[in-house]
Amino acid sequence: MERSFKKEVEALRLGAGETFRGEGILAVTKALLQSGVSYVGGYQGAPVSHLLDVLVDAQDMMADLGVHLETCSNEASAAAMLAASINYPLRGAVTWKSIVGTNVAADALSNLSSPGVIGGALIVLGEDYGEGASVIQERSYAYALKSAIWLLDPRPDLPTIVRMVESGFELSEATHAPVMLELRVRACHVTGEFVAKDNRRAEFSPLNRIAGPPRFDYGRLSHPPVTFLQERLKVEERLPAAQAFIREHKLNEIIAGDADDVGIMVIGGLTNGVLRALERLGLADVLGASRIPILVLNVAYPLVPDEVKNFCLGKRAVLVVEEGYPDFIEQTVNVELRRADINTRVLGKGCLPKAGEYSADVMLGGLAAFFVEARPRGIDVDAIAAGARALLDRQAAARRAVGDLPPRPPTFCTGCPERPVFSAIKLAQREIGPTHISADIGCHAFATFAPFSLGNSILGYGMSLASAAAVGPNLDRRPIAVMGDGGFWHNGLITGVASNLFNQGDGVLIVMQNGYASATGQQYIPSSAASRQGPAPGMDIETTLRSMGVKWLRKVRTYGVAKMSATLKEALRTAERGLKVIIADGECQLARQRRLRVEIADKLKRGERVLRTRYGVDDEICTGDHSCIRLSGCPSLTVKPNPDPLRTDPVATVVDSCVGCGLCGEVAHAAVLCPSFYRAEIIRNPTWWDRALHGLRARIISWLGGPALISRA
Ligand code: SF4
Ligand code: SF4
Repeated sequence: MERSFKKEVEALRLGAGETFRGEGILAVTKALLQSGVSYVGGYQGAPVSHLLDVLVDAQDMMADLGVHLETCSNEASAAAMLAASINYPLRGAVTWKSIVGTNVAADALSNLSSPGVIGGALIVLGEDYGEGASVIQERSYAYALKSAIWLLDPRPDLPTIVRMVESGFELSEATHAPVMLELRVRACHVTGEFVAKDNRRAEFSPLNRIAGPPRFDYGRLSHPPVTFLQERLKVEERLPAAQAFIREHKLNEIIAGDADDVGIMVIGGLTNGVLRALERLGLADVLGASRIPILVLNVAYPLVPDEVKNFCLGKRAVLVVEEGYPDFIEQTVNVELRRADINTRVLGKGCLPKAGEYSADVMLGGLAAFFVEARPRGIDVDAIAAGARALLDRQAAARRAVGDLPPRPPTFCTGCPERPVFSAIKLAQREIGPTHISADIGCHAFATFAPFSLGNSILGYGMSLASAAAVGPNLDRRPIAVMGDGGFWHNGLITGVASNLFNQGDGVLIVMQNGYASATGQQYIPSSAASRQGPAPGMDIETTLRSMGVKWLRKVRTYGVAKMSATLKEALRTAERGLKVIIADGECQLARQRRLRVEIADKLKRGERVLRTRYGVDDEICTGDHSCIRLSGCPSLTVKPNPDPLRTDPVATVVDSCVGCGLCGEVAHAAVLCPSFYRAEIIRNPTWWDRALHGLRARIISWLGGPALISRA
């Protein structure tokens, strides 16, 4: 069951003069509709999943506006959609998570940027860089540079974000180049307001199709010999045109300040962090007025040499604030100033760290270091440095007072269908020894954390089987590749399965079939039981694999730990060569609970019988060795003080969040642990038969064990 965003959709209907209030990413969605797009698409991933999710729920409105929407099978297919803007005056936008999504889309992006576009082409990137990131730490900037795609990085402020979306289309059309709009986690979730405009119908769209034959122009193909000309066009025409557009339309901003013998040049997305640090140092107010002049680069690439030179002229030193490495902007600023023979000192990396997120304290320390180095006129630098030290010491003192907190790695949801598979792998490994596990991207990657600690490599989304290709032939045990159904359709089917079959590889592949792209918010995938249009698209993983020639294939219910473990052992031991696939079947528990909650509430309202299963641990039998916890890791299975005064070890206990998935009992059974676990059925709105059965059971228990046992039953 996909999440519903009906409320957010209402905000997209606002007309001219009305005030939009909400999150940055929703503001982007509204700005797309105000820009007259003909098509949108993308692949989900934090922090931009919301954009696509909301548009999916806004299908009726999109249809009225004539906007074609695609939920693409991966980022490459989303990027390839932009081909519609190469030959036709169609505005389009696509979205994905970067850097990983941009890596997947890179081939299409190169082939798009070479011929360039007629219609505005905007790529909304969720830049997952920094402490909250879930992917490798690289930036999208390098793609902008190498492909001559302009990179907008707006100040996290809703009117600026909306303006950049609208200007992004104009910039793309004026320069015939695609444009990226980069949004970090904080920009996506910043809240604010802006004055809305009416949504616009595109001139051409599914409601008003372009008449006549398709346009043929060899010059618009990314194919030799025109690619040689296109390379020149990028540098000689499109780049100067972009710089002129940025300057004329004032896409970059200057925040004036009285201490103007120094200055700060900051990438737009980091502006709020700089202003907050200045405010903590007493050099800015909470509304963003600053004593230090700031050049806000809402366009991170290309830089406009005149803007850089004009800002630096007359300043003794400037600080370039640009997260991550390489220091692209700092280098460019240095080159431009050298060419113009301007001797302003450029500081950046050195005051600020070369790698990692510029969080509040990092920014504070970096700015203080800059002021000590640059000594701006009229500012008591020693007081600023002492203030920064005091603020940073407060953090350290708090840390010392609290002591070392235990790490809390992320884990599977309560009752997740993927957890039992890793319990089964652990049990199988007890017998056959440790195996190499090629992990993948998705919820199942939580198994790389304790208590499972299973996974030897992660090479990308849907890449697990491909990444085991050279492991298997070089190790004495078959490797196991774990892949989600999302990863299977995203990339794994071709990159992994087809390649393995083509090369007659050996090995074991577990496909977690939970029915959704779960980690990104339960979006539908080709093998889901439903689709955004309603009925299921009818693509099935088992049928697909069999049709490709997979012969050894088992489908096992994930919660059946004993069976899963036995199947794994069989796959790892069989003399039969070739790919062995286990489809681990179990619906995403988060999606299931969302669906059940609604169904149960309806049933209770109608006075119908509702049965809830819960598991528990008998305090008296639990020995306190906690093997069950080490084999399960469910957050609902925890410990509590031992009620027996003669025993000190805490006992296992199941808390109220248990969804009754049954894994506890399965693990206890499969691992031959202890008989402490019991299953209870909680019946609401019981029938006469339930009551009669309960009465009978109570009488028998009373007869067998007395009243004490009745109350425990
Ligand atoms: S979202 Fe679904 S698949 Fe992912 S951890 Fe939660 S229950 Fe498991
Ligand atoms: S039955 Fe056990 S594993 Fe399943 S949700 Fe309850 S406590 Fe967690």
